[in-house]
Formats: sequence, C-alpha cells, structure tokens
Amino acid sequence: MKLTIGHLYPDLLNLYGDRGNIQCLMKRCQWRGIEAETIAFESNDRVDFSGLDIVLLGGGSDREQMLVCEKLKEIRDDFKSYVESDGVVIAICGGYQLLGKYYKTDQGTITGLELVDMYTEQGEGRLIHNIVLKSELFDMPIVGFENHGGRTCIQNNKPLGKVLTGAGNDGTSGYEGVVYRNVIGTYLHGPLLPKNPQLADWLILRALKKKYGEEVELTDLDDTQEKEANDYIYKRFVK
Ligand code: GLN
Repeated sequence: MKLTIGHLYPDLLNLYGDRGNIQCLMKRCQWRGIEAETIAFESNDRVDFSGLDIVLLGGGSDREQMLVCEKLKEIRDDFKSYVESDGVVIAICGGYQLLGKYYKTDQGTITGLELVDMYTEQGEGRLIHNIVLKSELFDMPIVGFENHGGRTCIQNNKPLGKVLTGAGNDGTSGYEGVVYRNVIGTYLHGPLLPKNPQLADWLILRALKKKYGEEVELTDLDDTQEKEANDYIYKRFVK
C-alpha cells in the first residue's frame, strides 16, 4: 500500500512548523510498512489532485492568505471534487479559514475555497492559548496551540471537539475545528499530529480505506512517548 501526501503552498502557508505534520504522517505509514511520499506544491505549481491521498493546508499570516487566495481560485473546482469524493484533508489555522466562504479582515475580505459551509471574521484581539479538546472521534484528548485573529462560524457542521481549555473557533461557542466528510479543519498548530497520534491515524486510515477498501485496518504502533507528551499537556492545562 502507498499514500501520497500533497503539501499545498508550503512557500506561503507554513507557520509554527505545520510541515511537521507531514513528517508524522510519513513516519506513521513507514513504521507500518506502508509506502509514503510527499509532493510539495508551491504557489506557482499546478496542483494535480488525482494522485493525492491526503492534502495538508497549513497556517499563514493574513498577508500570506491574501496572496494564496488568488491561487485558490484556480484550484477550487478540482479541490471541491476531491473533497466531495471523500479525499482526506487536514487544514490548519489559516488553511482552515480558507476552507470556508470568506475570511473578513480589517485589510479586506479574503475569498475562501467554499469547500465547507463556514466563514471567518476578524475579531478584537488575537486568541493565543494552549488548547485542549475532547473529540468524539478519539479517546485521547487533542492538545495543541492556537494563535488567530479570526473567529470562525461553522454553521451546522460538526466541530472537531469541545474546548476543555483555550478559545476554539470563536472564543464563545465552546467548540473547536470542523469535521466534514474526510476533511478536518482546526486552529491547532504545533505541529498537531505528533502529539495527537489518534488524529494522525484517523487521516491515514481514511485515506487507505478510500484507496484500498473498507476492510483495511491499521496495525498498532508503540505510542508511549506520544501519549506521554499528550498527557503532559492535558495535566498541565486541564487537570
Ligand atoms: N491569519 C489568520 C488569523 O490571524 C490565521 C493565522 C494562523 O494561521 N496562525 O486568524
């Protein structure tokens, strides 16, 4: 089995080491004998979704998002078909905001991809916190760090998790992130996946099932260190 990960616009969207999520996905595949490769598409490259199994859209500043938004127009239809045919996506912070209809800032409105029915508007002050969530998808809590000026409204979509500490989507709803088909959008930087191995495996398993059939299962890995890292953050900020 083999998975191909597409890293979209690492030249513009790569805040706080979001690239580390790719290393984590690659390693967790390779440790199980699953081949993994990553294709980085910079802002001037043509993105071909047909060969991709997981897409990562990282975070960026408002300025970079403004630049990226022009590129997104070119790939919007192909990206939409990829998502609607259950392609796997992990979109972080700036990338998460771009999944929606728009991100309104005091410098102007950035048009999004409209892949998920949601929108973001800049609020007063930035939401900068260590953050911990409880997600229905996983036993382990999801831990991370958030730093965003935008407040995201996910309409009737499912959130990724309930906020145990931190601000989340808008600082008031008590929820963070979004889950739509095989797309996860979240404000958690970090990188997110190394200390949230169940989330990493959710993405890998979804991608494998789509490609090779529902019967595919993942072998367990020794996640002692990953669990310790996760538990450390949980105990420090929640208990
Ligand atoms: N520029 C966006 C905001 O401030 C996203 C920032 C980020 O990716 N950390 O809301």
